[in-house]
Amino acid sequence: MIISLNSTASSEERADVMAHLCRLTGNQKPVSTVQIDGQEVIAIDQQSIDEYNATLLKDHPAVATLTNVKTPYQLVSRVFKSTRSSIVVGEAHNCDPVVIGGEHAAPVIMAGPCAVESREQLLSTACAVKEAGAQILRGGAFKPRTSPYQFQGLGIEGLQLLAEARAATGLPIITEVMEPAMVDVVAQYADILQIGSRNMQNFPLLLAAGRHAQKRPVLLKRGFSSTIDEWLLAAEYIVAAGNPNVILCERGIRSYDPQTRNVFDLSCVPLLHELTHLPVIVDPSHATGRRELVPPMSRAGIAAGAEGLIIETHLDPNSALCDGRQSITPEQLQSIVRTTRQLARLLNEEMALTPVA
Ligand code: PEP
Ligand code: MN
Repeated sequence: MIISLNSTASSEERADVMAHLCRLTGNQKPVSTVQIDGQEVIAIDQQSIDEYNATLLKDHPAVATLTNVKTPYQLVSRVFKSTRSSIVVGEAHNCDPVVIGGEHAAPVIMAGPCAVESREQLLSTACAVKEAGAQILRGGAFKPRTSPYQFQGLGIEGLQLLAEARAATGLPIITEVMEPAMVDVVAQYADILQIGSRNMQNFPLLLAAGRHAQKRPVLLKRGFSSTIDEWLLAAEYIVAAGNPNVILCERGIRSYDPQTRNVFDLSCVPLLHELTHLPVIVDPSHATGRRELVPPMSRAGIAAGAEGLIIETHLDPNSALCDGRQSITPEQLQSIVRTTRQLARLLNEEMALTPVA
């Protein structure tokens, strides 16, 4: 159940409704409000409200509307918000704003190395991906590596280099945060916080990304063995904790065939657009693990309706410290940018001409 609060309610009326909701939910946790599209809302478990209390709430002067959402995720559901959300990135660090998602938005291309390796590598790659047409620079400073003996990232130094690359190119930056205690620090540098596949159900991390003061947009990658409902519930954690700026990223799920690193579940893109108002982007690099598959699967992602791509790009992929096999060159990126933009334009025009069934 989602309770939208009346903006004209007095503080006593608000306190009264909050106390009532705390009683209904058994005071398990403090009830918190979230601003979604300028509207203050609270979501609580449907089970905790019977018909009598629903009527009491509906008539309460602090309550504007009650919305009954039947799925376990609520605030991210399209039942609650029918229009697609768009998220503005980059304003916090005085970059030209980039809009991700929303109706008929052009796809946003994020590109850069898997990991920040050195100043020289990052700055030259940042200039090259900008030249190729990317709008956001990616680069991991904290890397979740399968083996403890692999390169783990440059840490804070990597974040400082990303900030330098942003200053040099004007591109907003996206970088991964792996632990709750680091959210505030990474958010000082990043324009988008990336929560990786391995951490999709790290609930303390999701809560920290929801609660942190700067409310940076969060790119939530799909856990490689997660169902769509689990993924949407992970997004719900962030939104319910106070940060509505969540972008979903399909990056492939694990299956039995080692030919590709993962299986790219592109059917999730149109399905998510039915289920949620959050923007959806795709990552053809981690989804396939093979650079030759990145251009065709980038096109496929856009054709499926993704609102953006995140692509690993390296000046010398074969010498990359991380994920070189799936990294492409800036020249290949430029061709992907050109083709996918044309494709998106064509699809938008075609869809505008197609009568709704
Ligand atoms: C990455 O973006 O480099 C990464 C580690 O991604 P994922 O969490 O999808 O594996
Ligand atoms: Mn990677």
